Amino acid sequence: MIEILIATHNPHKVKEFRSILNHSSIKLLSLSDLNDQDDVIEDGSSFFENGLIKARYFANKHHMITVSDDSGLVVESLDGRPGIYSARYSGQGDYQNNLKVLCEMENIENRRAYFVASIVLCYPNGVYKHYEGKVHGFIANEIKGDYGFGYDSIFYVPEYHMTFGELDSSIKNRISHRANALALLKEDLDEIINHK
Ligand code: IMP
Repeated sequence: MIEILIATHNPHKVKEFRSILNHSSIKLLSLSDLNDQDDVIEDGSSFFENGLIKARYFANKHHMITVSDDSGLVVESLDGRPGIYSARYSGQGDYQNNLKVLCEMENIENRRAYFVASIVLCYPNGVYKHYEGKVHGFIANEIKGDYGFGYDSIFYVPEYHMTFGELDSSIKNRISHRANALALLKEDLDEIINHK
């Protein structure tokens, strides 16, 4: 059994990680399990750079294999915004972030968007691996659904005719950007477990 630290303060992400990366040889610990309130300044210029900053910092601090997730929403008509600024787009939390995107998308026909998750697994010695996953969809015309977090309620998934905010978490955890990135990580699991 190996312990892996999930370097996030977001309880929704921890829940998704636990549900997707459910494996008998791995015990997933969160920062709150370690009583760690520490925050890292994410001053990278890409999802990957920010993920690496977080994973490296906490792997070194706790001497544990650490997985970070830097993720966000990329909207084609908004030149990729909110992108790496997804969490703090409005500066006033998830609900206002959603309203800001909807407002900017008013009267815009091309509503194509995707979520991206850049996952970095870092060993205490600084060696790391990077996994990226995406899920494509559209920006809805209004906020719909109470499930999930972030931009889930304005992210429309055509295959299911509903937003992530309306979709059962078991389905989101099968098709999401995070699920796609973690599926790639799972392919390396034997190597990770046996890493000396
Ligand atoms: P991070 O914690 O710095 O990676 O910020 C990620 C931000 O991207 C979150 O605060 C959300 O606004 C958004 N985001 C990432 N993944 C999701 C998701 O699965 N659903 C909805 N919003 C997400």
